Amino acid sequence: MYDDQNVFAKILRGELPCHKVYEDEHTLAFMDIMPQVDGHTLVIPKYPAETLFDLPAELAGHLLNSVQKIGRAVKIAMQREGIVIMQLNDQSAGQTVPHLHFHIMPTSLGALSRQSHAQTMGDQMVIQQCAETIKTALDTL
Ligand code: 5GP
Repeated sequence: MYDDQNVFAKILRGELPCHKVYEDEHTLAFMDIMPQVDGHTLVIPKYPAETLFDLPAELAGHLLNSVQKIGRAVKIAMQREGIVIMQLNDQSAGQTVPHLHFHIMPTSLGALSRQSHAQTMGDQMVIQQCAETIKTALDTL
């Protein structure tokens, strides 16, 4: 059962703020508030799916298209060739927000394993600056 009080549902309804970098008919991308690396961005469907398995197949292409688009922009913005794209399904796998999302992280698996997940609030100025750089990179695609 989808919980429409989760933070991403509130962001989608405009009840909570976010550093938005991209939006289209089916998806929204914004900065993670507790980034595991500078440039950590989240891509979510507007459809109320808790996990990947709850997303209708016909919406999967739209979501993956946005993941590719934001991934490319993050690579350019953060000047990294290699990036991690992560997606957790269910609390038992470590998912902390019950609305489907992809993490776009300009880092490596090794560096990521030394970072705690969703623990420390990021510096708002740095997050805002990363969002602006990613938006500028998006304009070049
Ligand atoms: P999960 O653990 O579900 O895979 O990832 C949830 C992510 O959402 C975490 O990386 C966490 O830092 C981020 N997050 C949690 N609450 C908020 C919020 O209110 N705003 C934003 N922008 N990110 C959030």
